[in-house]
Amino acid sequence: MNRVYNFSAGPSMLPLTVLEQAQKDLLCYGDTGMSVMEMSHRSPAFEPIIADAEAKLRTVMSIPDNYKVLFLQGGASTQFAAVPLNLMNKNKKADYILSGQFSTKAFQEAQKYGDVVAAASSKYVNFAKIPETTRESFRPDADYVHICYNNTIYGTKFNYIPDTGDIPLVADMSSCIISEPVDVSKFGMIYAGAQKNMAPAGLTVVIIREDLLGNARPDTPAMLDYKLAADNGSMYNTPPCWPIYVAKLVYEWILDLGGLEKMKELNEKKANLLYDYLDSQDYYVAPVEKASRSMMNVTFVTGDADLDKKFASEAGAQGLKNLKGHRSVGGMRASIYNAMPYEGVEALVAFMKDFAAKNPK
Ligand SMILES: *Cc1c(COP(=O)(O)O)cnc(C)c1O
Repeated sequence: MNRVYNFSAGPSMLPLTVLEQAQKDLLCYGDTGMSVMEMSHRSPAFEPIIADAEAKLRTVMSIPDNYKVLFLQGGASTQFAAVPLNLMNKNKKADYILSGQFSTKAFQEAQKYGDVVAAASSKYVNFAKIPETTRESFRPDADYVHICYNNTIYGTKFNYIPDTGDIPLVADMSSCIISEPVDVSKFGMIYAGAQKNMAPAGLTVVIIREDLLGNARPDTPAMLDYKLAADNGSMYNTPPCWPIYVAKLVYEWILDLGGLEKMKELNEKKANLLYDYLDSQDYYVAPVEKASRSMMNVTFVTGDADLDKKFASEAGAQGLKNLKGHRSVGGMRASIYNAMPYEGVEALVAFMKDFAAKNPK
């Protein structure tokens, strides 16, 4: 077996020990005689798995008791519609901060349902930074404010939590959830597709303050109604059983490491290694404003599209996979989520030095 360093933006690396545990359990979970993939979601064997996954996530993220945790499907993109359907319910108004492609998609989806405006945008700098906002940026009668906390494609992250006063703040945290501590109580709702930092694809986690439940638009599809999901313990229909089980293993892995403070320390160490190298030379350019840099997705370019292509392909041949930037921005992107070991980033930096020496511009 020859595992590579996989810098994919998602689906992405899972911790090796988690994969090994999943492998052990694959054919027979405990004494059930069957795989988690084969068992009824309403069986006595699965019920503790989903309950434990929720309990562990609550511990990992210090989720306050007045928040519900929902295990859903449809990816973060389904939440782009579910959020307005559930939350745009008083004044039919919502304010969005545009900081990249996913926040723009969320904004466009929400526009189908009400009066939705861009309160701030960094499109004018090709999303190379996080827009600044003050409380005055938002309409006082907005039903909620939506942000994308970490911008997977551009490699930026909010370095502040927008002050929205009493307006619930909704955050897409698909690519940064459980990478560092966040104060959940500052948000009305957090959602994340699991395939970046938590589990295999197929699971979407929603963390929502209880008082925001129960006022979905009447035409909300049952499958998108958070209240229905909450009342049924995320089992209105069949939940994504296997990804929930792997997510549980990932939460346990984080707790064993020492929790999110420790996770942050490890992630900072990896990101600093890469950014410090980028800042120390001028062969590669990191296009993102320093104050807005993501700890999870690091973007850089050589300034020459052919060299960028050569970089990604030669790195791939050396076991450093999926470094090609998103098709809409080009260049390179190293996604260094929780499961990427420090040694993977060391190997990347060594390759970058070698490539720069061998390919003078
Ligand atoms: C990947 C990603 C999405 C899209 O997620 P899907 O689960 O594929 O719908 C949305 N937002 C962010 C921040 C992402 O990184």
